Parts: sequence; structure tokens; C-alpha cells
Amino acid sequence: MNVFYDLHLHSCLSPCADDDMTPGNICGMAKLAGLQAIALTDHNTCGNVRVFCRQAEAQGLIGVPGMELTTREEIHAVCLFPGCDAAEAFSAYVYERLPDIPNDTHIFGRQILIGEDDMPIGEEPRLLFGAADIGIYDTAALAESFGGVAFPAHIDRGAFSLLAVLGMWDPSLGFTFTERAGLGVPLPYILNSDAHRLGNIPDAARRLKITSPSAQAVIDALKSL
Ligand SMILES: [Zn+2]
Ligand SMILES: [Zn+2]
Repeated sequence: MNVFYDLHLHSCLSPCADDDMTPGNICGMAKLAGLQAIALTDHNTCGNVRVFCRQAEAQGLIGVPGMELTTREEIHAVCLFPGCDAAEAFSAYVYERLPDIPNDTHIFGRQILIGEDDMPIGEEPRLLFGAADIGIYDTAALAESFGGVAFPAHIDRGAFSLLAVLGMWDPSLGFTFTERAGLGVPLPYILNSDAHRLGNIPDAARRLKITSPSAQAVIDALKSL
């Protein structure tokens, strides 16, 4: 089956995302847009993925739990997992390696945790914008060790992207595909919205071939691009 996908979306737990990017609102908007497989990828946390996956299921969507990791080099890499247990274990691993700096909501925005009824249940006190003490060269293998897959995010951008930071593509990074095309990168790529607000969730346009309607099948399809 071919499914319309968007595998890079931020909820209100990301300080830079709108407060109304609740998992329920994201899934409702994705459904309206015709998407079928969507991933939640907040900065350096999987704190809202369990609610997100339940909301996705309620809408008949494939919910993929994930994270947009900021590496030590300040490179963004999206990490996706086959289930919430794996994602939350990865999240705990990353949290231990994040700088212990409190979030200043006036500067960065709120980091809102959402409960089962899609209402706020609290805020993450530690700033999620920082760089985790995890190197980009270790990221692909690390995600895989949790059963997931990682890819460098928005590599054509001038900030927080692999090409902007490293200045070149290195095959020994271990990634097998990227997000967006990059000069000198000889790999297949996928296209995601990186939406931080509901209005930026795009209409369905890009498809991925998967063997069954599950997050695991999405991971498997990405690994074999
Ligand atoms: Zn990013
Ligand atoms: Zn992002």
C-alpha cells in the first residue's frame, strides 16, 4: 500500500511550536489534509508521543513516535521509532544528555505536555532547544539500537542542518536517506513539512510504499529506500 505521509511535525511541547498544536489537533488536521502516516518529532523529547499515537489511531491514521534530535554539533536529525516504549526509552537517554537549563517561556515559548483528553497536563521545565551530548556520527546507530531509524533533517537549510554545519556530505555518517535534497548528497530523500503550526500541515502530496499499516512498516520502508 502507498500512504500519504508527513514524518516531521512538532507539537506544543516544542517551544517554537504553537500552543494549539496538540496531538489531537495535529491528527485532526492531518486527517482533513488527507495524510495517512504522520510522525510527531518534537525537539529532544518524545513526551507527547503516546497521546499522539492514540489520537492518530482514533483518526484511523498511522502514528509514528519520533523526535527531532539536536546533536552536539547543533545538527537536527529526525529519529523515528516503531512504538512508544522504544521512543520513550530513547527520550530518557537523550534527556540525560541535555543541558540542565530551565526553559524561559518568555524567550523560547511554552513546552506543553498533553494528556489523554488532549488537554495540557503540565510543562516541561528543562529547555528542549539545547544540544544533546550525542554526536552526529553516532546518531544513526543510536536510533537503530532503539529499533528506530534516523535521518538528517532539512539538509538544504542554512541553519541546524548537516550540510550547513559540516560543510560536506560524509558517507561514514551512516545515514541511508535524508530529508530534502542536498548538493553532493548521493542518497534518496523524503519531503516533510516540519510544521510548527496547524496551518502549515500540508495537503497530502507525497507517498511512501509500506507493507502494512503500522509504524514498524513505515520504519522498514524508510530503511529500504
Ligand atoms: Zn529542525
Ligand atoms: Zn523540526
